[in-house]
Amino acid sequence: MKIAVPTETDKTEPRVAATPETVKKFIALGAEVTVQAGAGAGSRITDADYEGAGATIAKTAPPMLKAADIVLKVRRPSATEVKNLVSGAILVGALDPFGNDEDVKALAESGIDAFTMEFMPRITRAQSMDVLSSQANLAGYQSIIDAASNFGRAFPMMMTAAGTVPAARVFVMGAGVAGLQAIATARRLGAVVTATDVRPAAKEQVESLGAKFIAVEDDEFRQAETSGGYAKEMSKEYQAKQADLIAAHIAKQDVVVTTALIPGRPAPKLVSKAMVAAMKPGSVLVDLAVERGGNVEGAKPGEVVDVDGVKIVGYLNVAGRIAASASALYARNLYAFVETMIDKEKKALAIDWDDELIKATNLTRDGKVVHPAFAEKGG
Ligand code: NAD
Repeated sequence: MKIAVPTETDKTEPRVAATPETVKKFIALGAEVTVQAGAGAGSRITDADYEGAGATIAKTAPPMLKAADIVLKVRRPSATEVKNLVSGAILVGALDPFGNDEDVKALAESGIDAFTMEFMPRITRAQSMDVLSSQANLAGYQSIIDAASNFGRAFPMMMTAAGTVPAARVFVMGAGVAGLQAIATARRLGAVVTATDVRPAAKEQVESLGAKFIAVEDDEFRQAETSGGYAKEMSKEYQAKQADLIAAHIAKQDVVVTTALIPGRPAPKLVSKAMVAAMKPGSVLVDLAVERGGNVEGAKPGEVVDVDGVKIVGYLNVAGRIAASASALYARNLYAFVETMIDKEKKALAIDWDDELIKATNLTRDGKVVHPAFAEKGG
């Protein structure tokens, strides 16, 4: 059982799919692990660290990819990487398949059995494999660190001999995994925190973290959650009522962090140009949804935009900005999943194709696109 961990080919991706900790665990399961030289550099892991854990270091990717039974990745492989993979190889990563049908087809045509971690069901057994949660949690933390470093003022109230500095007012829009961590982090830094969400269940979670919940709590709000626990797209009427409430609130905030997403839809626009214009100069907005279209009007992917003294922060790959921690958790998520594919006694691959985690995440198999969300589109 040969496992390959290549350096991510996307230059903007500092994370890595295995750490010395998970390399050791894979070796204990009977695997041979090869890591490409420099693969861990963006996450503060040296080649020597990997060697110390028992991995072999490969100077270049092609030979190790050609020899691999399992390839661990953060992002979808490049066309060159796919060419180097052999038919029957297993690929595991956050492959971001939506909107990338051609790449999914290419994986199938190369005979690769590809598994995408974002499709992991959110059930108890798979919690340790949930890359969306592990990365969103860190992104939520980092959003507040980024807000604080762009703010130019202190977050906590400070009573000093020279007088008092007021606490920053932080408003978090979208209280899912990232938003709840943003609330907790802002509270730890001493800010006065408020938050909003369209899911009624979020109210209690927000309040349990010591923040105040702000929302129009009408009948539509009370029913606004899918059976899967995700947000529904709200009616135009609700959005208008909510926007009025939020507009008045935002004008009084120093920092706004937006994290609102609806699965399979563009991010809802929650902060208009007029709302940004109503904020005090020196205020900061951090838009964590910028990769999916953005919650803030005027946010630009990968940029910090200054609108009359109000900064709109649109950093990409925010979990990657805290890469060492992000890789540590991502690698554990991958290990927890790949472990289920291995027969521990025989120390060999033994995939149970009927397992619900395998079925939910398997994109391509035996030359075909097999995932129901893509299968009809080709393969
Ligand atoms: P997400 O990233 O899809 O969305 C982020 C948040 O944005 C959500 O809370 C959503 O309700 C909110 N949102 C959407 N539209 C909005 C709007 N117009 N205004 C304000 N907020 C809006 O969601 P997520 O963070 O991945 O998690 C969603 C839910 O799933 C949460 O309840 C979370 O606790 C739960 N969850 C469960 C598990 C598990 O059981 N294993 C794991 C992770 C998350």
